Amino acid sequence: MRYAMILDRRKCFGCNGCTVACKQANATPPGTFYTRVLLEESGKFPNSKQSFMPMICNHCDKAPCVAVCPTKASKKMPDGTVQITSSECIGCQLCMEACPYGARFFNGDEKPTYWEEKGQNEFEKARSKDHVYGTVDKCTFCKSRRDRGMIPACVETCPAVARVFGDLDDPNSEVSKLYKKYQPKPYKPEKGTHPRVFYIG
Ligand code: SF4
Ligand code: SF4
Repeated sequence: MRYAMILDRRKCFGCNGCTVACKQANATPPGTFYTRVLLEESGKFPNSKQSFMPMICNHCDKAPCVAVCPTKASKKMPDGTVQITSSECIGCQLCMEACPYGARFFNGDEKPTYWEEKGQNEFEKARSKDHVYGTVDKCTFCKSRRDRGMIPACVETCPAVARVFGDLDDPNSEVSKLYKKYQPKPYKPEKGTHPRVFYIG
């Protein structure tokens, strides 16, 4: 099993549907965006153009966030994903400094009231315990959805089908077929992290 995601920049039109679907599925705290879409502009008006760069944790094979974690709370899993065991995280944030992609977030910086019972809305009451205060958090490739046989929320939502997720070890998976056809490239390969997220276009 080698989970991977391919993002097709030719199709992405920057609607941020993925950003919103992720927020809803994971109930992340204010200021935390496991996935987000960057806007890039090139050329000079009137010949300028915009393009979009969807970003997410790359679940790197040589993840510096895993290497620096002093408690081994950050782990490379047998399915190829990188996960954090929050009960083992001491909140030192070394992993956030080590990640070249800004893919990790600290639970507590933006709005501590998210975790305070007083003043929480119903959604926060139900889900804030999924993001332990004082620990680091990131995209899990929607582990809780995958455990229920579902694909990541960003993939399911994308109206442009710009996101494809699956097992690179399965030659019949859509992700394998796309990989073979387009030889997509990871973001910042010079960092030597060997991402599991690849881009077409
Ligand atoms: Fe770690 Fe960052 Fe790679 Fe995700 S993108 S596995 S947080 S180094
Ligand atoms: Fe791009 Fe799809 Fe995200 Fe919309 S939902 S911003 S098209 S990746």
